[in-house]
Amino acid sequence: MTERVVNFSAGPATLPVEVLEEARDNLLSLGDLGAGICEISHRSKEYDRIHEGAQEKIRRLLGAGDEWALLFLQGGASLQFTMVPQNLGADADYVITGTWSKKALAEAKKLGSPRVAASSAETGFDRIPTELDLSPTASYVHITSNNTVAGTQYHSFPKTEAPLVCDASSDILSRPLDLDRFGLIYAGAQKNLGPSGLTLVLMRKELLKRSPDSLPTMLDYNTHAENDSRFNTPPTFAIYVLYLVAQWLEKQGGLTAMAEKNEAKAKKLYEAIDGHDLYRGHAQQDSRSLMNVTWRLADEKLEPVFLEQAAKQGLVSLKGHRSVGGIRASIYNAMPAEGVDRLVAFMKEFAQQHG
Ligand SMILES: *Cc1c(COP(=O)(O)O)cnc(C)c1O
Repeated sequence: MTERVVNFSAGPATLPVEVLEEARDNLLSLGDLGAGICEISHRSKEYDRIHEGAQEKIRRLLGAGDEWALLFLQGGASLQFTMVPQNLGADADYVITGTWSKKALAEAKKLGSPRVAASSAETGFDRIPTELDLSPTASYVHITSNNTVAGTQYHSFPKTEAPLVCDASSDILSRPLDLDRFGLIYAGAQKNLGPSGLTLVLMRKELLKRSPDSLPTMLDYNTHAENDSRFNTPPTFAIYVLYLVAQWLEKQGGLTAMAEKNEAKAKKLYEAIDGHDLYRGHAQQDSRSLMNVTWRLADEKLEPVFLEQAAKQGLVSLKGHRSVGGIRASIYNAMPAEGVDRLVAFMKEFAQQHG
């Protein structure tokens, strides 16, 4: 079999090898069933075990009790950009920290009059704003916990009167969360949870009361909450892989242990950036993301050379997002420490050659 590269892709992103191996084996036959995971009914008892198991594991990892509804949806985080304001009311406050929060705001604008509570646009989205101008009548406050493109991340969350709604697509399950702060958390699965095609929504059940009756059935959170995310056919394979990823996370020691590993990986990479004049980190120190590390080369003409030489060593998908350029290393949960070590060694070598 082809040797696997060190894959720094921002999403869909690398997955734990043991998860992939188990999924591969169960594609042909789920256990001793004789039919594969993609070939069985979403209402079968074999699938029940996976669906419920994934829910239980996610709840346990995050410490989400009965007051929370956990939904498995489709349409990506991008569909949540409109489902959130459609269900909760669009006159909300938005904190603008990059590409994705701008898109979320644009969807809310189609439905009402959201406000911008803070923005770091003026400084190229290099930080998480600390001062928020919140409206007392906001239906919710929307933030993006980790900014996949700019490489910034919240390291503490604001206390808000209105429910805090969080797009956690690129850092969900990378660290423990104090759920008391939040009203609704959503995440597309393809960064830190599994394959694309699945979106996780964790919301306070009391917020379900807000949905207007006029909503199309599929866009109403109540439809999915009342039908255990099986009103229609859910993305069963993606949920199965999520189940395996959650099982893998348990084996890693849960979210506290995972957070420590993530911190150690990111620290090494930021030290390599700070240690060489050739590299210029994008994010301000206190806003740096532990998931997506972004930097430029002092001589930008060297960036394609950096990417090409890295790829020759099996270090791939390091090109920054098309909107910002530069280099981006996505180092989600499933990126092993050795992968980061190999990148750091390459960066030192490259700096010696070109610094
Ligand atoms: C990738 C990403 C999205 C878009 O997710 P889709 O599932 O492709 O709709 C939204 N928000 C953040 C923070 C992301 O990283």
